[in-house]
Amino acid sequence: MTKSSEEKSADFFAGPGEVRALARTLDWGATPLGWPDGWSPALRIAARAMLDSPFPICLWSGPEYALVYNDAYRRILAAKHPAGLGQPGSVVWAEIWEGLEQQFAQVRAGGPPVYFEDARFVMARLEGGQTEDAWFSYSLSALYDEDGTVAAVLNISPETTARVRAEAALHIERARLEEVVRRAPAFMAVVRGPTHVFERVNDAYLQLTGHRDVVGKAMFDAIPEARGQGYEELLQGVLDTGEPYTGRGLPVTLERTRGAALEERLIDLAIVPLTELDGTRSGIIILGTDVTDQVRSHREIERARDRAERLQSLSAALAATTTPEQVAEVVVAHAVAAMGADMAMLAVRTPNEAGDGAEDLVCLRQTGLTAEVSSDYSSFPVSASVPTATSARTGESFFFEDGASIRAAFPQIPDVFDRLGMQSLATVPLVVGGAIIGATTFGFSTPRTFAGEDREFFIALGRQAAQVLERARLYEAERMSRVRTESLQHVTAALAKAQSMADVGHVFSRELTRLIGADTAWVGVVTPDGSVIEALGWSGYADGEAEGWRWLPVDAGIALTDAVASARPQWWATRDAIAAAYPARAALIRSLAQDGVAVLPILGAPAWDRETANERGTNGANPVATSEPEDRAIGGIVVGFRTPQHFDTDTRTFFLALAQQCSQAMARARAYEAEQAARLEAEAARSAAEAASQAKSQFLATMSHELRTPLNAIGGYAQLLEIGVHGPVTAEQKRSLERIQRSQRALLAVINEVLNYARVELGAVTYDLHPTHISDVVAEAMPLVEPQRAAKKLSLLVRLPDVAGAPGLQVLADSDKLQQILLNLLSNAIKFTPEGGTVIVELGDQMDDRGHAVLRVSDTGVGIPADKLDLIFEPFVQVGRALNNPTEGTGLGLAISRDLARGMGGDLTVESTPGVGSVFTLTLQRATDD
Ligand code: ADP
Repeated sequence: MTKSSEEKSADFFAGPGEVRALARTLDWGATPLGWPDGWSPALRIAARAMLDSPFPICLWSGPEYALVYNDAYRRILAAKHPAGLGQPGSVVWAEIWEGLEQQFAQVRAGGPPVYFEDARFVMARLEGGQTEDAWFSYSLSALYDEDGTVAAVLNISPETTARVRAEAALHIERARLEEVVRRAPAFMAVVRGPTHVFERVNDAYLQLTGHRDVVGKAMFDAIPEARGQGYEELLQGVLDTGEPYTGRGLPVTLERTRGAALEERLIDLAIVPLTELDGTRSGIIILGTDVTDQVRSHREIERARDRAERLQSLSAALAATTTPEQVAEVVVAHAVAAMGADMAMLAVRTPNEAGDGAEDLVCLRQTGLTAEVSSDYSSFPVSASVPTATSARTGESFFFEDGASIRAAFPQIPDVFDRLGMQSLATVPLVVGGAIIGATTFGFSTPRTFAGEDREFFIALGRQAAQVLERARLYEAERMSRVRTESLQHVTAALAKAQSMADVGHVFSRELTRLIGADTAWVGVVTPDGSVIEALGWSGYADGEAEGWRWLPVDAGIALTDAVASARPQWWATRDAIAAAYPARAALIRSLAQDGVAVLPILGAPAWDRETANERGTNGANPVATSEPEDRAIGGIVVGFRTPQHFDTDTRTFFLALAQQCSQAMARARAYEAEQAARLEAEAARSAAEAASQAKSQFLATMSHELRTPLNAIGGYAQLLEIGVHGPVTAEQKRSLERIQRSQRALLAVINEVLNYARVELGAVTYDLHPTHISDVVAEAMPLVEPQRAAKKLSLLVRLPDVAGAPGLQVLADSDKLQQILLNLLSNAIKFTPEGGTVIVELGDQMDDRGHAVLRVSDTGVGIPADKLDLIFEPFVQVGRALNNPTEGTGLGLAISRDLARGMGGDLTVESTPGVGSVFTLTLQRATDD
């Protein structure tokens, strides 16, 4: 039994694969190919081989090119499978057939095979007939039958779409990358071989290296100036070891424009080896960034911060300073540390020593100067032609970056800067409140540039220093004036204790050295004859050193005598200055230990000072000086210092005030000495007078005693005659005898009184003091004056009230003496009160201010003129006594009475109005109860 074509087809397509499975069921009779049993043997063999191949292969048979394909080709057909099997080429690939038909025809006609690589087709093989690009490397070759006819076109057709697409993407990627690299801000170069021949470089690299034509050239031939900067070694190292290198901020010096000066750039750099597949290192990629501007601006920021910090720490350090010297020290130290200066000086303007209104610059602080230069420039005129002085004068700043520019600007500059080895210099003025108070200079031993910020730093430094200096100056001035005020007070206090001129000289010279800080002080005074200045005291000299200046003739022609003669002070900064002014004595002056000297005249104190001096201890208001011009010197003071001195206005004022204190102390001492002399004189006179008075009292006592004996005898004999012992006496004789006796009694009374007075005066009276009732004494006295009172028809009133708080008052008295006083006061009152008047004895109802009892005897009598009130207590004084009208009495009563009252611890005083009356007041100690 013969098999049908279908069965034979199934047999033919027996085997694995999807296409075979499809082919087994396909109705081949309906295709241009017909059933496989009808195919030529070549076609059948080729079809079998094709179906077994994993490579995409198909056969296009017959004039219609009917398609038979394998499983691998099925993926190329995509949506055209399974419909494509057995179909003509014009149907299967209708969309691209137009281009293909010619190629198929050429092969079928026996032409050469066709081969294309990566040919592009736009195929509608997607689901729904959508098109897509696809690439194929395909061949078309003829499959011959035995008879030499072409049975089919063999089409081997691997699809390369994925590779083509990938290659295209890669290409785009690479082009993009190259563009990025070319335009990158980072520079890049690829070099090859041991001499580093440039293979490619980007724009940034060209820019860095000055747009040179480097590609194809060895690196260090193309960029010769890069040799010797360490880069050859770096590249070689990377090639040798294969270790990439990275570095930051590396300096490289390049010619960035043809013919221009070399320029330093800073780069961040990576050097990476190019390693081949076989591990050899064929080249290097150089990759980097020019970071010059970043680094510089970063450094700039750092520097700015650094400067700000320095200025801040300067401010902090300055805040702790109090004296100008401290300020100068801090400023100099900071600037030297901050800027690395080798020399620095800070000088301030000061009125010069000569006092002619010109100014000096006084160096407050320096460093890095030689001893010689430092001494030359410790003080120099502000008019000097050096940068510091010019800056302090004009307010200009100077920044000299090398020695030549210093000399160009200051041609007549002394060679100090050369001697100090200074190559560059910065000088800024010290300016505060618009005033230039000095300048500061910093020197450097190498040339250097002063960038804008450096200059600003120095100028800011000058400004800060000036402010703080000014503050310190004010502070110092305030402190000095306080210290000086206190010193002046101390000196004044010390001088107040000086009584003699010698004391003044001694105390003053000692205080000058002890308190004022002078090293030596000498004080002298012009002798009364005006010929010599005599030393009053000195202090601080070596033993014997000042001996030769005990007496200095006023015409000696030395600074002291000149100052005294002209009454003008002299201020000498140094001994050289004095020596120059007194050349004749230069050798001596130079031999002295002192350097700076103030010579002060002691001016005559104005009149009020002498008055004040006379009233020692009184402290009156400030009288105004009236007479006596102060331009005459009474002495001189020499104040010496072992170091040079600058006597500024305040210091001068202070020293002149000290000299004035000395002058006043001298005036007081002179007045005191004069007063002492006067007192001694007065004491001598008084003791002489006392001796005379003693002699007088003695005489009175002796004489009255001697007179009493014959007077008593006269009285006695007169009585004997009167009573007729010597015979009868006539009435006439009797009257005479009575007169004799009356005269004898009167004379005796006088004599007794004189004797009494003399005794009291001689202190020969003794007091028997005991408590005594005043009322008793008054009661006893009354009868004794009764006859006199009655004769003058006077009222005599006694008022003895109980004294407040002391009823029945007792006084401490000698009752006989008290009686004597009371009788004397009563008889005077009666005697000097006209007829009809009144006399009152009364006890005061209060004690006086000494606590004494007060007994008053007052009358309405003639009174006593005010100018006689003191006199009546003197012995032998009787008011209104005329020679032709002798009043009764001796003028001794009140003198004796007051002596007695005082002898008992009391007193006797009087008040009186002429024509109205008198009041005598007797005070007596009260007897205390115990
Ligand atoms: P005598 O009374 O002995 O003269 P006194 O020493 O007692 O001496 O008095 C001195 C003088 O004081 C008197 O001469 C008289 O001028 C004046 N005198 C004293 N007491 C009174 C008085 N009560 N009124 C006026 N004058 C008086």
